[in-house]
Amino acid sequence: GVYTVSYSVKDSAGHETTAQRTVMVFSKLPDSSRPEGPETPTVYLTFDDGPCAYTAGLLDILKEYHVNATFFVTAQFPGYLDMIGRAHKEWHAIAVHTLTHDFSIYSSTASYFEDLYAMQEIIKEQTGSYTDLIRFPGGSSNTVSARYCPGIMTTLTQMVQARGYQYFDWNVGSNDTGTNDSEEIYQNVISGIQGKKNAVVLMHDIKPASIASVEKIIQYCRANGYRFDTLCASSAAVHHPVQN
Ligand code: ZN
Repeated sequence: GVYTVSYSVKDSAGHETTAQRTVMVFSKLPDSSRPEGPETPTVYLTFDDGPCAYTAGLLDILKEYHVNATFFVTAQFPGYLDMIGRAHKEWHAIAVHTLTHDFSIYSSTASYFEDLYAMQEIIKEQTGSYTDLIRFPGGSSNTVSARYCPGIMTTLTQMVQARGYQYFDWNVGSNDTGTNDSEEIYQNVISGIQGKKNAVVLMHDIKPASIASVEKIIQYCRANGYRFDTLCASSAAVHHPVQN
């Protein structure tokens, strides 16, 4: 649409002046003829395990394309925690992954929540508020936790929701932990999103090959009628079957 913005200013001596400017607002889908609406398939790019040395480069790419993503953050790389603040300022969603990413957090519900709340404090320092979004290390379907405490995922998936959180798994795997080939990661994502109304894509900003695939993924999605969005507590929940 085309809009007119009117400015009016006055100084201490009472001199007043006004100005007008015309603002044109364009769709975020420059390459798509498809109008954005409730039926538009949505891609949620999600990045786990950072921030780290590569996160700034990823944020630069996302900024260039005006795409927002969801960051499931950790404190594994303490020198880069300010990237949580930058991501927040640039309108990405910030969510808890884990402070330590050590699976011993699954020893008990107390140790899980101790880790979660410590990460929340860092997020609050960086963004000014807590988040209500989480992703369990290994996903809610992980079986590694059974080594530490049988049944804990069954308990935790209920407890976090009772405490006001929503947890997100994913329904598109990039397999960026299994390959360093950015073309392969791109292909995994593109084939994974086909036919999904809501595609929650698991990627890792600690993997340079994954970041290297992002530009092509965005270009493909833009050219094929997908929109991007960030997760929030009311987004359609993507939950794996709990296995422990
Ligand atoms: Zn992780």
